[in-house]
Amino acid sequence: MKVELAKYAGFCFGVRRALKMVENNLDSLKKPVKMYGALVHNEEVVRVLQDKGIEIVNNIDQAQKGTLIITAHGTSPYIKKELEKRENLDILDTTCPRIAHIHNIVSGLRNKGRTILIYGDRHHQEVRGIQGAAGKGTKIFSSLDGLNKLNLLKNEKYGLVAQTTQNQEKFKKIKEVARKKIKDIKVCDTICNTTSWRQQEVRKIANNNDIMLVIGSHSSANTTRLYQISKKENPETYFIQTYKGIKKSWFFGKYKVGVTAGASTPDWVIQDVIDALTKLNK
Ligand code: SF4
Repeated sequence: MKVELAKYAGFCFGVRRALKMVENNLDSLKKPVKMYGALVHNEEVVRVLQDKGIEIVNNIDQAQKGTLIITAHGTSPYIKKELEKRENLDILDTTCPRIAHIHNIVSGLRNKGRTILIYGDRHHQEVRGIQGAAGKGTKIFSSLDGLNKLNLLKNEKYGLVAQTTQNQEKFKKIKEVARKKIKDIKVCDTICNTTSWRQQEVRKIANNNDIMLVIGSHSSANTTRLYQISKKENPETYFIQTYKGIKKSWFFGKYKVGVTAGASTPDWVIQDVIDALTKLNK
């Protein structure tokens, strides 16, 4: 059985950077240290951070003193300002620079009188942060159908951005339709390069192999997207969180296995899967 591991499997630049910022500064951070939501959408990584004494909070009222970590997904500028007012609280902002760049894009477009349209998942931390930077009236949709259902005004000027981990192919179609539907629209392709490369790569690998394993957490948007793309290309695609999810029966009569992982999946989890496959092979 041959194993093909994707070149872009595992941590992206933004996640690696956020973790490094926390690890390098942890000793000197004012205690207690809390993170506003999961630093990385992966249970294995969160467990390691919790073991180091970092607690997750989902409401900023739970962070009055010590240090609050803003995750790589970023947060709304309004929330950040509120946190900065707290005298006993330090902030460690690990927002990915690519997401911070989207905040700048949308506030720039809004200042030029445009209403912002965001293609993304309205419940995702990243999208909520972008919405905060985009201001009142911002509209969020998660599909072409959603775009078609938006109540758009004829003489209004719009700006369109996407959540960084959205499906590149679907956004292409959405951009085309938006340009036809809206007279004055400025479209910014804000899907992260890492996401695009991974999605292109998974299509290839899924086609090259008899079976595909996608490693990551179900709470990770980009891993879920990789799984969906892979499943479309190769129905023998399985979503696993760790090597423990592997089932022997999947591999009967299979000779080539493709492996990829989301941007929030740590290297050690990927390596465990490769080791488990090597064992299975023997
Ligand atoms: S996927 Fe891209 S934008 Fe998102 S955290 Fe990673 S590097 Fe940053």
